[in-house]
Amino acid sequence: MSTETFEFQVEARQLLQLMIHSVYSNKDVFLRELVSNASDALDKLRLAALRDDTLDVDVSDPHIEIETDAASRTLTVRDNGIGMSYDEVGRLIGTIANSGTAKFAQELREAQEEAGAEGLIGQFGVGFYSGFMVADEMTLLTRRAGESQGTRWSSRGEGTYTLARVDDAPQGTTVTLHLKPADADDQLHDYTADRTIKEIVKRYSDFITWPIRLVPKAADGATAEAGADAGTATEPETLNSMKALWARSRDEVSDDEYHELYKHISHDWREPLETVRLQAEGTFEYQALLFLPSHAPHDLYNQNYQRGVQLYVKRVFIMDDCEELLPSYLRFVKGVVDAADLSLNVSREILQQDRHIRMMQRRLTKKVVSTVKDMMTAAPDRYATFWREFGAVLKEGLLTDSDNRDTLLAVSSFASTHSADEPTTLKSYVERMKVGQDAVYYLTGESRQSIENSPHMEAFRAKGIEVLLLTDPVDEVWVDAVGEFEGKPLRSVAKGEVDLGGEDGEKTDGEREKQGEEYAGLLGWMKEQLGQDVKEVRLSSRLTVSPACIVSDAHDLTPALENMYRAMGQ
Ligand code: ADP
Ligand code: MG
Repeated sequence: MSTETFEFQVEARQLLQLMIHSVYSNKDVFLRELVSNASDALDKLRLAALRDDTLDVDVSDPHIEIETDAASRTLTVRDNGIGMSYDEVGRLIGTIANSGTAKFAQELREAQEEAGAEGLIGQFGVGFYSGFMVADEMTLLTRRAGESQGTRWSSRGEGTYTLARVDDAPQGTTVTLHLKPADADDQLHDYTADRTIKEIVKRYSDFITWPIRLVPKAADGATAEAGADAGTATEPETLNSMKALWARSRDEVSDDEYHELYKHISHDWREPLETVRLQAEGTFEYQALLFLPSHAPHDLYNQNYQRGVQLYVKRVFIMDDCEELLPSYLRFVKGVVDAADLSLNVSREILQQDRHIRMMQRRLTKKVVSTVKDMMTAAPDRYATFWREFGAVLKEGLLTDSDNRDTLLAVSSFASTHSADEPTTLKSYVERMKVGQDAVYYLTGESRQSIENSPHMEAFRAKGIEVLLLTDPVDEVWVDAVGEFEGKPLRSVAKGEVDLGGEDGEKTDGEREKQGEEYAGLLGWMKEQLGQDVKEVRLSSRLTVSPACIVSDAHDLTPALENMYRAMGQ
């Protein structure tokens, strides 16, 4: 069959360069990535077979196999999972998922500048390419379940890869790495040694729910020097315990083990910020192991953002991205929920209507929100990171989740004129309120600077009244929906009449009235000139330097919100 040569996409090529001249010091993780892909492929096969019983596939012994050969310096990871079609190989392996965007190229450049490409590697799902940290050539042979023809992909990780159709490929995927010379790099372990493979699998992939087997070396000693390692074993040895971490008690599992599960689920290479466990017993039993990531993914606001809570039923993987388990404002949470009493055939439609699922969602939501609350006091630094990364998303909950609104308000923090860099909670704001101040003041805008330059701020600055500086688009809407905090109304400094009144007794009512009469002519003239563009022109006590400013009625949309709606096409 003919072999065709293709060029990698620009972004893929850049990334491969990063891999080959690897920035990542821990090269062992390439095996974790390949095993993770193999495990996903087995999950998908199981599901496909369950959904379609006419599918011609072998699901009798799903497993992952690792085979090494010191003489030819190869390492092979094989699975009998779903496999890929010719087109899929080109699409999934020849490009970088979710990339091709300007954003990607830009982040890649930035990451290179700060020599921190590690995070990027995780974010863009380049797991497969990590093989090039240890290999100078990779080959992938695959056949999609139900199809008769297979595909061979091969590349040296430079500019090109080849694709060929093959007739005799087994179902599933076999990835073969031709390992770099042992002395190429002192961080390279000997990946042909059984002991090394066992250690790496135990360390990173122990919880994988499918067996990971090490193929014994041939007895006649083609690889004699590894003989001591292999012993006399002829049966493949299963290397992982396959124990579901969420089903084990907290003290049996190390933080590292939890973190490896997180990395497998999230495709993120970084540690999570927080682990959340929940074991519900009773009539509807389930276990949940959820993670708060340490970085917001770049596509969190995309319409087709993939959530990351997987649903299992009695240890059997059912689906990725189960939207019914958490509300949209917690879409950044990753993890596993394993429910004992659902059918293996459960569909999205059923999940949407199931009363138990709704109860589960409520309980999981409470648990996540209370974890954030605990973090605030127990780990302020981590809370600060969390808020920086996810605060804007969490605030969507102030609008949509009235059950948890109070807790969400309590865990929210905001930039404020009180401090240039430390955000404040509403509680601290209220504690600092001046005698006689009866509202929590805020102003929304595009940036801290633009808000601070607003003429609306003048009187507040002059009087030393603290103002919250709200710059996220969602701030425009939740403040109105929430309305108050602990009995204190939330009031925009740009709306309605602000009474910064009298405690310093600048002007009496009489004086104001007199002033009103004095300026009546000017105000009338201005109203005439501005016509339909304004509702009213009035004297204000809110300005100290600027001669005039535009104010909305208390219940009108702010200009920024009008812009937002307009941008959304409404
Ligand atoms: P990710 O796993 O984050 O999606 P990878 O680079 O690891 O990124 O893999 C890219 C894609 O290639 C996977 O999403 C999957 O669709 C496909 N793939 C990789 N390895 C396998 C495999 N062993 N079997 C089936 N598909 C695979
Ligand atoms: Mg992967």
